[in-house]
Amino acid sequence: MSQLPQLCIHTITTKPWSLDQCLLNYEKVGVKGISIWRNALENQDLSTVNRRVKSAGLETVSLVRGGFFTGNTKEERQRAIDENKKVIEEAAQIGAPLVVLVCGATPGLSIKENLKQIQEGIEVVVPFAASHQVKLGIEPLHPMYADKRSAVSSLRVANQLALAINSRQVGVTIDVFHVWWEDDLDEQIKICAKNNKLFSYHICDWKLDMSDMLNDRGLMGDGIINVREITKSVEETGFRGYHEVEIFSNQYWKMDQNEFLNLIVTRYKQTYHLN
Ligand code: ZN
Repeated sequence: MSQLPQLCIHTITTKPWSLDQCLLNYEKVGVKGISIWRNALENQDLSTVNRRVKSAGLETVSLVRGGFFTGNTKEERQRAIDENKKVIEEAAQIGAPLVVLVCGATPGLSIKENLKQIQEGIEVVVPFAASHQVKLGIEPLHPMYADKRSAVSSLRVANQLALAINSRQVGVTIDVFHVWWEDDLDEQIKICAKNNKLFSYHICDWKLDMSDMLNDRGLMGDGIINVREITKSVEETGFRGYHEVEIFSNQYWKMDQNEFLNLIVTRYKQTYHLN
């Protein structure tokens, strides 16, 4: 079996599998990291997850996801804060050092108002996250999601937000799918790292014939993102974290998941010219 020390897979990538199937099969092909989505934790005894991950020879990289801090009413925003505290507790329980944040956007509110509410929401949960020793990664999303998923639509804005919050607990999660188009990407990656905010790194691809805004992400090599080049920029800053494969795809979820996993490994090796 080849050694792939930086390869991490998100459980959502192989959504048809249970957490135990993910653990068993990832380990078999040399995956070292796992980012766990909350849906994979349903009906699980959280107190045993940490031990199960470790005994499968894997490391938990993050819990996905928290966020969605915006709302039309105070009550809505309070519910979001309560929910984020729950996510942080779950992360602490399963030994995940990081919660990835999809920050939220409420249709009808201005981008500025959404961003203000996001900042306030994160600031409220920071002490709770700190006391649980869980970090928070602001993941900027592609602007096509600015309507209802996230008003944080570029790495530049994520960097500004993380700086404004000014807590060691809060940084940025970079996902090639969301930021590949940014003309100042290299510069923003450098700024992110210089601020000690580069917390985690997601990879996949952008298909030219994308049929669904959410569930038709490509596997590396399916589309037009130069994942290797972006990774080079990320690693030139000194980042040595995982390359996390995170793909939502109706097409790939229909495949035999073992075949899909083998394909992920093949494409991963091709992407980074590994043997
Ligand atoms: Zn991502």
